[in-house]
Amino acid sequence: MRRLILFAAALALPLLVLAQTAQPVERTLNVIYLVPNDFGPLPGYRERLGKILLEMRDFYNRELARNGSPARLRMPIDPATGLVALEEVRGSHPLAGYPYEGGWKAALPDVQAYIEAHPRPDRSDRTLVIIPTYKDNPGVPFYGLGTFCFALDYEGFDYKDCGKDTPAGEKFKPWYGGMAHELGHGLGLPHTHATKSQAEQFGTALMGAGNRTLGFTPTFLTPGDCAFLESSPPCRVFAPRPLRKAEGFVPEVRRWGGTVRVSGRLPEGCSVRRIVAAYDKDDFGGVNDNYDAESFVVPFDASGRFDFAFPMAEIHPGRTGKVQIQLRLVHDDGTIELFRHTLD
Ligand code: ZN
Repeated sequence: MRRLILFAAALALPLLVLAQTAQPVERTLNVIYLVPNDFGPLPGYRERLGKILLEMRDFYNRELARNGSPARLRMPIDPATGLVALEEVRGSHPLAGYPYEGGWKAALPDVQAYIEAHPRPDRSDRTLVIIPTYKDNPGVPFYGLGTFCFALDYEGFDYKDCGKDTPAGEKFKPWYGGMAHELGHGLGLPHTHATKSQAEQFGTALMGAGNRTLGFTPTFLTPGDCAFLESSPPCRVFAPRPLRKAEGFVPEVRRWGGTVRVSGRLPEGCSVRRIVAAYDKDDFGGVNDNYDAESFVVPFDASGRFDFAFPMAEIHPGRTGKVQIQLRLVHDDGTIELFRHTLD
């Protein structure tokens, strides 16, 4: 933990310098309400979802601040109501044309055509698409997909039910936490699990099982989550350098004195801003295999050198002893390069 704290302090200064030398455009998340051509919009959606999204944004921003990050998630605000403003897009398909499986293929062209026809100087490349439905479980796309993420609206989906031990509260819980979790994917976050001390102090990681706890029991963002968010366009507060990938980068990963150590050096001139290391147990490779992976921000020096030992006391035991280390290089512009190393 101490290494992480020192690292955060060391980074505060370069961030300030960057902020003074260039005034970046503050880009916002695109928030789209995609209405099927035979269903919706649902009553009061602008007020209901405007409030839900405002609370979600405030959760992200409280957690960024708690983690000492200068980044803030920006969503468009309706000046008349102070709520998050949704852009209504008329879909070209009926509700049945946007199924959970593969429905994104129908939704994306509708949304992309709208965004192209409605340019705005503060648009980012990240988009949350909400589709109204009358079905649960969930009936429409509900996942992150690159720079897009999908969630749903149902009649009566209302923030007044947040945290309530009532049937309406139980219904609210997975769709609210789920929307916040899928939004995390859309902003660039992989799955992660709380470390032992994080679990004790802060509860459930949003990008772990937090999709079923947010607003009900303590839920949080990890320092690793914040390292990703800092480069994500709707959160970034610095002017990014142009993308220069870490060509030829080869991290060394080895078991060492009861722990696992990762070391290496970033290529000179690459635009990597952060390194996040994950300790993924048992199963890996599939999109849902890393819910159990604790993650850590890896400090590196001015020449790009790093040497990091996973704090084993913070890591929950796996079932099989199989471990894959994942190193994610987070570039200024939000691009993420992933390196996997499976240990014998
Ligand atoms: Zn997920």
